[in-house]
Amino acid sequence: MLKAIQMVILLMSTLYLCIIVILFFLKKRINNDDTEIYKKMLIINLASIASELLLFLTGETNLVKNKAGLFIFLTFSKVFVCIIISWFLYIMKYTILLCDKVKKKKLDTEEKKKTLFRKINIIAAIVMIIVMLMPVEFILSNGEGYTTGLATKAAFIILVTICIVMFVELISARKKINRKEFMPIILLLVLMFLTTGIQAANPKLLLFNPVMSVIMVIMYFTIENPDVKMIQQLDMAKTQAEKANKAKTEFLSNMSHEIRTPLNAIVGFSECMLEAKDLSEETKGFAKDIVDASNNLLEIVNGILDISKIEANKMEIVPKEYNPREVFNSLCKLTIPRIGDKPIEFNFTISEDMPGVLKGDVAKVKQIVLNLLTNAAKYTDQGEINFNVNCINRMDTKTCLLYISVKDTGRGIKKENIDKLFNKFERIDEDRNTTIEGTGLGLAITKSLTEMMGGRINVFSKYNEGSTFRVYLEQEIVSMEVPENNSEEIEIDYSLHKGKKILVVDDSKINLKVAVNVLKPYNMDVVTCESGMDAIKLMETKTFDLILMDIMMPKMDGVETLKALREIPGFEVPVVALTADAIEGTEEKYKGLGFDDYLSKPIDRYLLSKVLKRLLK
Ligand code: ADP
Repeated sequence: MLKAIQMVILLMSTLYLCIIVILFFLKKRINNDDTEIYKKMLIINLASIASELLLFLTGETNLVKNKAGLFIFLTFSKVFVCIIISWFLYIMKYTILLCDKVKKKKLDTEEKKKTLFRKINIIAAIVMIIVMLMPVEFILSNGEGYTTGLATKAAFIILVTICIVMFVELISARKKINRKEFMPIILLLVLMFLTTGIQAANPKLLLFNPVMSVIMVIMYFTIENPDVKMIQQLDMAKTQAEKANKAKTEFLSNMSHEIRTPLNAIVGFSECMLEAKDLSEETKGFAKDIVDASNNLLEIVNGILDISKIEANKMEIVPKEYNPREVFNSLCKLTIPRIGDKPIEFNFTISEDMPGVLKGDVAKVKQIVLNLLTNAAKYTDQGEINFNVNCINRMDTKTCLLYISVKDTGRGIKKENIDKLFNKFERIDEDRNTTIEGTGLGLAITKSLTEMMGGRINVFSKYNEGSTFRVYLEQEIVSMEVPENNSEEIEIDYSLHKGKKILVVDDSKINLKVAVNVLKPYNMDVVTCESGMDAIKLMETKTFDLILMDIMMPKMDGVETLKALREIPGFEVPVVALTADAIEGTEEKYKGLGFDDYLSKPIDRYLLSKVLKRLLK
């Protein structure tokens, strides 16, 4: 009777296990740790059911009546016991992984996980060998047979030990125990408790396989098996979003190029007008206003370009050595004209123990601080602006924590607006700000750049009293020694390069005209041409001291032209890239491509004079 019940239960377990196996292997799945373990458990469960059926069917036949047949039967019984142990080992591994996932991730690396599982496998192998060596016997009572002996008792102890390990793991993760993934484990422990009782009373009744199959069915619905279809859809959406974002960045970059090219002409010609001798002061005033307005426009274009690059994760950190005293001083020089004739006292202090040379992304440091200084100048009508740069030097790690503060006595920011301050395109107190130019991008960029470099920014402000912005940035110390002052000369010496031969290559006639005018005061021999091919041809007949090369040209761009030029035997003329894209890292890019230097359009006269001085020795 008991045997018949067991047979029915076993057949039912076989049936629903087969359904789950079919479902699991037919459904597309992502192979993660959980599904891998589940797959193995399914196979083991199938093997154990098949073994049990086989033992069941052979147990009462004549096979066990002879010695050799009995030996095979008993050995196979031990194999069956080992199969059950291995299933329990896998669910123990699953429990360990699950508990670890919801706790603090001690096994977060693949390596740690592998090492732990390797240890478990070694112990399991030893235990199984011992079980295989232990004796078992086959007992026939009332015409029904069952296996017992040392091996089955040892196996039972092992299973209890595994259940204790799982129980301890569950206790350690008890705070998250209400998650659905824990359900099969809790149920297994409860069923095992009941099975142990039933088994003790009825050693003939084997209930492991039905219990295991029930657990497999429940686990099928609780294991982490991400829906492949959903993932594919998400992947598609992600690719589309990335494409759209790329298109946006490209559009912005092209737009910036397109805007900067005519701006180059506007700034260039206005500056020429400023220097012309035969113009009235009024006309020169207009020219100055054009330059100022163009510079504002340039700032806006650069801001949009920056934010799109930040969003596209294309902003890179480009570390360089720099002299902090020189850099922060130059920022003061840029800020003072912005204050104009407002009754504001501008104070600047820099810590005495500031290292002489630091290493970091100086261009971004400059941008961050200049944004804060410009805002202070923009939003303060009277009083003071205090710009302080302090530092904490750690010689053991060779790092310097820059602590930059910009404090003003300006209009301040309302408490409820502080949180919006760093949002892009968000301008605050619009009614009061209408007369002040801005796009609301400055602080969003400042914050992103600071955080990108591992720094922090915070603000304290009282409405109508003033604001303090503080930035903390870590930089590398290169040297404590302050280098000799080689700060840029303010006066341009136009007489230095008289008679030198310069070639300017640009496909835009108007840009060539600007370049010729910018170079005019130097009294150099300036030759122009409109394409890379023309430039190469010119090399056959003429020699030059320097080439200014536009990058974006049709047919043959600046980089290709440079390559072709460098292939001409004996060609040693320095070539300067002249481009309208002001993208961060451009300088490094072009220098890396073999250009001797880089100038961005609109050409800055001071930078031009520096480049000429360096390359026209
Ligand atoms: P923008 O200055 O281009 O408008 P920002 O992102 O630099 O954009 O600043 C956002 C807003 O924060 C500004 O519109 C202004 O209202 C406020 N703000 C920034 N700096 C100050 C400051 N020092 N004092 C008062 N308000 C400020």
